[in-house]
Amino acid sequence: MLKLTFLGTGAACPSLERNVSSIALAREGETMLFDCGEGTQRQMMRYGITFALRDIFFTHFHSDHLLGVIGLVRTLGLLNVFGGQERREGLVLYGPKGAKRVLQHAMEVGIERVKFPVEIIELRPGDRLSRGEYDILTFETDHRADTMGYALVEHDRLGRFNPDKAREMGIPEGPLWGKIHKGETITLDDGRRIAPSELVGESRPGRTLVISGDTRPVAALEEAAKGADLLVHEATFSHEDRARARETGHTTALEAAEIAARAGVKQLVLTHISPRYSREAPELLAEARAAFPDTVIARDGMEIEVPYQR
Ligand SMILES: [Zn+2]
Ligand SMILES: [Zn+2]
Repeated sequence: MLKLTFLGTGAACPSLERNVSSIALAREGETMLFDCGEGTQRQMMRYGITFALRDIFFTHFHSDHLLGVIGLVRTLGLLNVFGGQERREGLVLYGPKGAKRVLQHAMEVGIERVKFPVEIIELRPGDRLSRGEYDILTFETDHRADTMGYALVEHDRLGRFNPDKAREMGIPEGPLWGKIHKGETITLDDGRRIAPSELVGESRPGRTLVISGDTRPVAALEEAAKGADLLVHEATFSHEDRARARETGHTTALEAAEIAARAGVKQLVLTHISPRYSREAPELLAEARAAFPDTVIARDGMEIEVPYQR
């Protein structure tokens, strides 16, 4: 399972319709957040996101992406007071240049004592975190601050094992099947040697998703998003307001859609919508779909599951 839940989809300040930026990503029982705007902890409760998370990735430290971390960390330290289990597991906060200074400071504001370890890791664009079955890659973005975007790239999966053929060949079901599936050549009791290629198909690609954070259109993002299963791109403004987008370091819905089309992604979700547009933001959706049909506009609480292609 790989699922995103949009906790906040508005730009700059919260509105009745949209909270400020945060996205929860759940993958095979692991949960992480991307950005943590003011009020994120309440959005997590509302939309059923577990507090048993380990990582928060920040795209940058404008307050609409940051302020929620103070209240969230404080609450994580109080879970036992409200009948939960006391948290002992550490929390890791990742962000671009300035992360140590900003987040250390945030941890000292309004939190009397953090009872579990909080680690702060400063990343640079181009870094790659290896995490078992997937990597987290960072890439450069352009937002008039120290900023970066993130891509989650799953490793290839094993090819499909053919159980019918294995039975036909008289290979006993059990540990031998597992060995062949993982790429080992085995020797049966009767001396036959069985190579994995006889029973296992080609390895299958994992899933890739890309989160832009706040940015102007950038080549590094387009590169990271090549063929991605899902691109989450900011679209603060409509193309009519493109001058404003340029001034403030943001992207228009049309520009985001053009990036999605050039990168050949499977699906585009637009987020970080300016409060000047209505809840459905029909003008943003229309201009984006003209360039890239598989586009949706995020709204708070929206869930998107990313399936395997094969
Ligand atoms: Zn923002
Ligand atoms: Zn920003």
